[in-house]
Amino acid sequence: LRSEYSKSDQSFLRLYNKKKLLNILRERGALSRVELAEISQLDRKTITNIVNEMLDDRQIVRQEMRQGSFGRPREMLARNADYGRSMGIDVGGTHITVAVLDFMGNLLSHVPLDLEDHGEPEGVLARCDDAVKTALAHAGLGMEHMEGIGVAFPGHIDPMTGRPALAESMPKWQNLSVPELFSRRYGKPVQAGDCSMLMAMAELWFGKGRDCKDFMVFDLGFGIGCGIVINGSIFAGCNGKAGEIGHTIVQVNGPTCKCGRRGCVEALASGWAIAKRGQEMIRANPSGILAGLCQGGSGVSSREIAMAAAAGDEGCRGLLIQAGETIGIGVANAMSLFNPMRVIIGGRLIIDNELMLGQIKRTIREKTIDVVYNDADITVSGLGQLASAMGAAAMCFEHYYV
Ligand SMILES: [Zn+2]
Repeated sequence: LRSEYSKSDQSFLRLYNKKKLLNILRERGALSRVELAEISQLDRKTITNIVNEMLDDRQIVRQEMRQGSFGRPREMLARNADYGRSMGIDVGGTHITVAVLDFMGNLLSHVPLDLEDHGEPEGVLARCDDAVKTALAHAGLGMEHMEGIGVAFPGHIDPMTGRPALAESMPKWQNLSVPELFSRRYGKPVQAGDCSMLMAMAELWFGKGRDCKDFMVFDLGFGIGCGIVINGSIFAGCNGKAGEIGHTIVQVNGPTCKCGRRGCVEALASGWAIAKRGQEMIRANPSGILAGLCQGGSGVSSREIAMAAAAGDEGCRGLLIQAGETIGIGVANAMSLFNPMRVIIGGRLIIDNELMLGQIKRTIREKTIDVVYNDADITVSGLGQLASAMGAAAMCFEHYYV
């Protein structure tokens, strides 16, 4: 937006107002011009100008709505779902998820894929091709129908070089330009962003953040991150790196983290840290429940540990409870800093992992000061493993359509 602003104040204002109207129509569905003016607080002349422009562009369409069987039908305005589609690709340490959205934000198809071994970027991209093809086939569309692609990546993406700056769990990607890589492969304009911030965007657009202006989303997965929404906008910090809750230190001289320091939340409670402890447990007890589930220990992830805990493995139960407590402390600290109205807990780590989720909630209750705790409602994301991919697809609309 900064570059738009320098062109001229007027075109910046026009763009801003257009975005505002499109967002209102996405949130509320079809509205009359009068309703649109009321909600947006823009004057009638501005509304008429922008609405006419958007009707000409086919970004919005007219709909007729009849009240009762008599009287003139009212003209309503709605976002045109067919105006364009976008694809979101979430590339994580242990998964690829693809989501296809239409301009209304409807989910047309989605494909979640597990990665056994993260390996070389080329191999990951080949798996990505499979997921992209399947998602397009399910939606009955081709790549030519996509206006753009959004890529969600763990950690910050340098806007100048496109390189990941904080993806310690995916070291082989560190010298690659993520947007360039994907745009060359698929021949589309590509935007890349931090998966936790995009998760917050998905909650804002489609999830439990829709009716809330100040909230935090905790992205609990292979790594741990957080998206912060202040006054309806994502807070990115001075250079796009805000929300690194995973690298806040909760145990002085604790275990070494991938960032090189010790005692970070991530070093104690992330998917990779839990899997590492799991491997140690298998070595110490090769005939235990966990070892039996993992057939020797190579394929141990937080999922097998949750399964072993559910089957009564005491070591695994203890591990998940301890990890839940660490995450709860991280969340409580973050809540004290931001006083959010809502806390949304999401990410793959808590899927089918009630034991850990329960402990996270208990620790948040215990460790957050009452005045802050009482202001917030603590809830679990309803978007599951699709959140970051949906946020990435939504990001395209912000960039390409307005
Ligand atoms: Zn760290």
